[in-house]
Amino acid sequence: MPFQAVQRAAKALGVVTLIASSITLSACASTSTTSSGSGDRPGVGAIESVGAVDDRFRREGGSDGENIFAQIDWGTPTEMRLGSGMPGPDYWQQTCDYEIDATLEPDSGVIDASMRIIYTNNSPHTLRYIWMNLEQNLFRGDSIGTNSRTPGSVMKMLEYDFGGGYTIDRLETNGRDLEMKVYDTLGRFDLPSPLASGQTLVFEMDFSFPVPPHLRRMGSEVVEQGKIFELAQWFPQVCKYDDVHGWNTLPYLGSGEFYTDFGSYNVNLTVPRTYIVSGSGMLTNPQEVLTATQQSRMDEAMRSDEPVWIIKPEEVGTRSSRPAGDGMMTWRFKIDNARTFAWAASDAFMWDAASVAIADGRGGTRRVLCQSLYPKEAEVWGPDHADGGSTRYIRHSIEFYSDFLFPYPYPAMSNINGPEGGMEYPGIIFCGARTNPRGLFGVTDHEVGHNWFPMVINSDERRYMWQDEGFNTFINLYSKAAWYKEDVNIDRAMQQTIDICSSGNCQPIMTKPDRTWPRWVGGLMYRKTGYGLYLLREYILGNERFDDAFQGYMRAWYFKHPQPSDFFRAMEDGAGADLNWFWRGWFLEPDALDQAIVAVKDTPDGAIVVLDNLGDMVMPVRMLVEYRDGSREVVDLPVEIWHQTSRWQAGLKTDGRRVKTIILDPDQVLPDMNRANNRWR
Ligand SMILES: [Zn+2]
Repeated sequence: MPFQAVQRAAKALGVVTLIASSITLSACASTSTTSSGSGDRPGVGAIESVGAVDDRFRREGGSDGENIFAQIDWGTPTEMRLGSGMPGPDYWQQTCDYEIDATLEPDSGVIDASMRIIYTNNSPHTLRYIWMNLEQNLFRGDSIGTNSRTPGSVMKMLEYDFGGGYTIDRLETNGRDLEMKVYDTLGRFDLPSPLASGQTLVFEMDFSFPVPPHLRRMGSEVVEQGKIFELAQWFPQVCKYDDVHGWNTLPYLGSGEFYTDFGSYNVNLTVPRTYIVSGSGMLTNPQEVLTATQQSRMDEAMRSDEPVWIIKPEEVGTRSSRPAGDGMMTWRFKIDNARTFAWAASDAFMWDAASVAIADGRGGTRRVLCQSLYPKEAEVWGPDHADGGSTRYIRHSIEFYSDFLFPYPYPAMSNINGPEGGMEYPGIIFCGARTNPRGLFGVTDHEVGHNWFPMVINSDERRYMWQDEGFNTFINLYSKAAWYKEDVNIDRAMQQTIDICSSGNCQPIMTKPDRTWPRWVGGLMYRKTGYGLYLLREYILGNERFDDAFQGYMRAWYFKHPQPSDFFRAMEDGAGADLNWFWRGWFLEPDALDQAIVAVKDTPDGAIVVLDNLGDMVMPVRMLVEYRDGSREVVDLPVEIWHQTSRWQAGLKTDGRRVKTIILDPDQVLPDMNRANNRWR
């Protein structure tokens, strides 16, 4: 309805146009900037009573998504995944252990590996075939990811075909050859005999691939003093078989990361003697690959809060920095309860380390090794840098999240500088920042935070990017504020949320990452989600109620695999709150928020404030009321005011004072699309 028609309609109805100009102007302004289709709003009737009094603004009926408050159908709970959002008595998950021997030949840039996989079928089902992730095949010149990429997409593919992808030379079980059928980044082989519930399959394969030149997530880079290799998503890995999708066979296209079983990794990495290696978990043979001096420095680092040099800048590339002898060396690593294994190798690394004491879960403490390996180009990484350097950042993040969430479960955390901008794996992270200390802190803190989500709370990254990126962004808000001793800052997240919600063709957070508009990945999956959890904690539920529920979710899904519905249910169950409106408005639909103040009328025993909800999203209302006598108060209205209506007439107890000004969302924490209609005077 156009604006003039609204005025005519209001006149015909005999509407009292109190403070007419400001009311209609603000309502008009909001409709012009809101993409959510609120339409023109009829004017205010006689303001005589409070509540949902105006029939014209009744919320739509219906039992499904027509009404933002309607119960969402999360599917029927089972004894596997309970209605409370907790894993039930029938819960199961597969385990998959890997023993890998790999050799890196730096000149050719080829990895050659043999692998033994021990796959245990803990499901109640019989499996007749196995699906595998063949993620290196993304880097084939003819892969789906290569052919469907768009300029500016998250995976910066090469402009030329360097011959990427796997060569699989051997695949066998118990001496019997298996035939792998390869479909892009997926491979399938049939089992010689069915794998019954409770049985274990052991199979072996040999594979090789050329390490891609500089790419996202992994790759290689030539630096002044040598070459850096970052290896991740580098070995064929069994796809996740679960109760929700069966085999999870979404291909690796570049944006969606990974979703895998927990397992133990024993990985032996053979490299030239001049190379230094760091990997997920603990180095188990330091006496073979480190000099006596380096071993004693490592021992010191394990006792020290302050960083200790393991390889000093002036020692990089020197003969005395490596054990005597000739030929290649094998570095051995072990990590348990991990969802993958990543590593890095270089002849240009300097190396410093410290450790941090965290709770061991038995009333005592244990020390986690925190170490940084980087080339001389990484100017702000060293422990002598005025801003603290990488190792101090790791210590802070491990300590902060161990205290804020639950203790870090792994023995070590390594931060590697190389070609990758920022990527996380169990016990090892890659950070590309070299010259900006705040950039280095932000990336380090974020990637360390991923060791809680999704390395331990093991969600499906390929489908639900927000369930790790957004949760991590949420906890990063608090960690960053603690490190810099400043207030939590949500400005960027709020602005990006508003920008995305106000643009056309907005996508919901639940969109698969590979289907998400590339420029929105950061805004939607990271910041809108993180900001949403912040609002849930600070504005909607309050810290105590949120923390009880969130702690319950983390405790329940510690080293397990939650689906989104498990999270939503666990939060409602733990907080004792009906949050259907929040999940629908924030996560399931691309809704926009626009709260408006339409009119205020002083009455003999108080005042009536007329509020409009112009967007499709709803939120509780907070308003700052200033009176003519100079007094002021904050008034909170619950989200339930919007149950039946999008126009609410709120009664204020004023104790005889006259209202001077009212401001909605006075602290500006809500993603309100149009703040021009938030003020009345
Ligand atoms: Zn991330």
